[in-house]
Amino acid sequence: MVEKVCRECHRVVTGQTCAVCGSTNFSTDWSGYVIIIDPARSQIAQKMQVKLAGKYALKVR
Ligand SMILES: [Zn+2]
Repeated sequence: MVEKVCRECHRVVTGQTCAVCGSTNFSTDWSGYVIIIDPARSQIAQKMQVKLAGKYALKVR
């Protein structure tokens, strides 16, 4: 199964809507991901403006 990511916030989506922004605008053409465990302490999370822990794609086309 190909995982989908949200085009708005890059979160890897498992349901019908994005858990972060509620978007249904998904892409299956993406590469690389980071797992954010503690957004408040993660510099990557801050750079990507991620506020909810989870899996995020680095590049989405
Ligand atoms: Zn989203």
